[in-house]
Amino acid sequence: MARPVRFNIHPKKPDIHDNIAVASMPEGSMGEGYFATKIESVIGLARKNSLWPLPFATSCCGIEFMATMASTYDLSRFGAERLGFTPRQCDLLMVMGTIAKKMGPVLKQVYLQMAEPRWVMAVGACASSGGIFDTYSVLQGIDQIIPVDVYVPGCPPRPEAIIDGFMRIQDLAVNESLRRRNSEHYKALLGTYNIQ
Ligand code: SF4
Repeated sequence: MARPVRFNIHPKKPDIHDNIAVASMPEGSMGEGYFATKIESVIGLARKNSLWPLPFATSCCGIEFMATMASTYDLSRFGAERLGFTPRQCDLLMVMGTIAKKMGPVLKQVYLQMAEPRWVMAVGACASSGGIFDTYSVLQGIDQIIPVDVYVPGCPPRPEAIIDGFMRIQDLAVNESLRRRNSEHYKALLGTYNIQ
């Protein structure tokens, strides 16, 4: 007896134009056959939409990050599907979880091995402030050893919050001046962490 297999003979074609988000153009001057803008805007646009995260996950917040990367939340939509596990290929350090003081030098070493421009996101209460672990062995926030650009609150933060933090990093990347990393102000900031 034939199995009751039913074929969809009228598949609904997806409307590709509804599903593809195109990055908005930077400000500039446009005419027939040309578009002129600042190189800074173009580089900012490229950086914003091609961040390569390095997940430094040590405990439970890392599980939320796994959900953020999976199909439902899909961080790839932001051009960040390429996770790197070597600091030399990444420009966004995402620190997720409790950082013990013994782990501090390791985290700093990872940060130092990343090339400029680099951004840092502290995901969750533990990375931001030590969280509930107000003890002798836990670092009370990673900003004691490296500069942090965005803090994501929560214990753990939901994937929506991680995505929101990621979008704040994108705002920083797209608006950052190309001169910022060579400025005295930035060098002074790194100097407070004993980073040359
Ligand atoms: S903030 Fe909460 S969920 Fe995240 S690592 Fe710390 S204890 Fe775990």
